[in-house]
Amino acid sequence: MNFAAKAPAIWRRLAKPVAIIGAGIAGLTAAFDLERRGLQAAVFESGRAVGGMASSFKDAEGYTYDFGAHFVSNRLAEALGAADISRTVGRYGEAVALGGRSYSYPFGLAASPRYAASAVAARLRPGEVANAADWFRNAYGAALAEDVAIPLAEAWSGAPASKLSPAVGQKLSAGVLKTLYLKAASRLTGRAVCNGYSHEMPESPGIYHVYPEGGVSRLLEPTMKQIGHRIALESRVERIFVERDRVVAVKVNGREIGVSAAISTAPVHLLPRLVEGTDRLDALGAFRYRPMIFVNLRFEGRNLLPDTMLWVPDRSQPFFRITEAPFSMPWLAPEGRTQLTFDIGCEVGDAHWTMSDEELARICLDGLCRIYPHLRARYIGPGGMLKTPFAYPVYLASYERRRQDFARDTGVAGLYSIGRNGEFAHLLMEDIYWRTLKRMQHVADYVGQEV
Ligand SMILES: Cc1cc2nc3c(=O)[nH]c(=O)nc-3n(C[C@H](O)[C@H](O)[C@H](O)COP(=O)(O)OP(=O)(O)OC[C@H]3O[C@@H](n4cnc5c(N)ncnc54)[C@H](O)[C@@H]3O)c2cc1C
Repeated sequence: MNFAAKAPAIWRRLAKPVAIIGAGIAGLTAAFDLERRGLQAAVFESGRAVGGMASSFKDAEGYTYDFGAHFVSNRLAEALGAADISRTVGRYGEAVALGGRSYSYPFGLAASPRYAASAVAARLRPGEVANAADWFRNAYGAALAEDVAIPLAEAWSGAPASKLSPAVGQKLSAGVLKTLYLKAASRLTGRAVCNGYSHEMPESPGIYHVYPEGGVSRLLEPTMKQIGHRIALESRVERIFVERDRVVAVKVNGREIGVSAAISTAPVHLLPRLVEGTDRLDALGAFRYRPMIFVNLRFEGRNLLPDTMLWVPDRSQPFFRITEAPFSMPWLAPEGRTQLTFDIGCEVGDAHWTMSDEELARICLDGLCRIYPHLRARYIGPGGMLKTPFAYPVYLASYERRRQDFARDTGVAGLYSIGRNGEFAHLLMEDIYWRTLKRMQHVADYVGQEV
């Protein structure tokens, strides 16, 4: 279909391109939708390839892994035109390792008398909620909050739960009845029904996990076919110029380009340095992201963990989560073998960040064998190691008001900030997709007024 033919001709003739900063799922979805509306998009990606966090890696031995284990829905695959390369996932579940035992999540934990009693007590006498720690105690009871929710939140955020905004908890909560219903639907249909993967669209038994053959990055291939010609790789946007509070141009690899609007998917704390001509974004410089290391280790056998994902709320462990992606997607490892991914929260330059790959593999294996000693005998060796300085936005209470303001509007006409790091929100890909489409309506309205 020739989308451009449908656009008001004046836009095509007069409008300068809309600059899109970043070619991850947010930037590519934005470019595709603007093109569909007849607006010209120019996507600038600083890296050598598209995909951003939705990248996949495959090695000669037949192991595939993503930037941290990724799970997607059939609805997203369909929306991106990638349904025919995606396989249905039959099983997905989570467990929590606690005191030498593992509990299925959430019902195994809920069945523990200590946790159940403490949750009931919290419901009967809810306390004041000033921070995430209070929120967890009220929602789950003091026992479960102290043993599980607070240590996990602190491991992935790198901040004390008493300094995190209550919004951290609100983002994670899913109703018990909904969880029961969706779990039952999974059993009945033999498909891993999604639970908690989309907040923008309803979840139901018809929305289940799928995974593209060859890795999550393949989801973006159909979009690339449509708008690949609009993407400039190895093109870092160095400046966004603002005049009289409106975006007028960007500077890319030293060259200035006039634009009608700019859509950024870069981490928001970089915006004060990128944007020239206004101080309205300066407060964003204080926003923090949690860096993360993903360590992949290979083993003989399959289904070594109690379920696909194992949460480890043990402060003495270097990692807070282990994922066995081949548990759900068997085709990600050679037959009879598996791969475990360990998530380590860290800071750039700290002891974990600077550790050698061998040493990272060793501390993860040692930590795993403290939980399951028998797995040492099955260890084959390390797989790929990945690091990112921007894995999770950290919702510190100190800038919560500013975060909420920014979620509504950047405060600069013609500047939009989208995607996980751009919205500073714990967004998964499907929500990014729907939210980006909605935002593009605002961009189209703005560019239309400017012409
Ligand atoms: C550990 C982990 C597990 C996850 N698991 C899941 C999951 O199971 N399911 C799911 O749906 N999602 C998952 N996600 C989230 C998902 O990966 C992201 O939400 C999504 O990929 C983010 O896409 P994006 O386009 O917003 O940003 P990104 O993918 O970060 O893309 C931004 C791009 O902008 C480029 N860029 C930045 N600055 C500039 C500049 N100045 N000039 C030019 N280019 C620039 C970057 O190079 C990058 O390519 C997970 C994320 C993590 C960290």
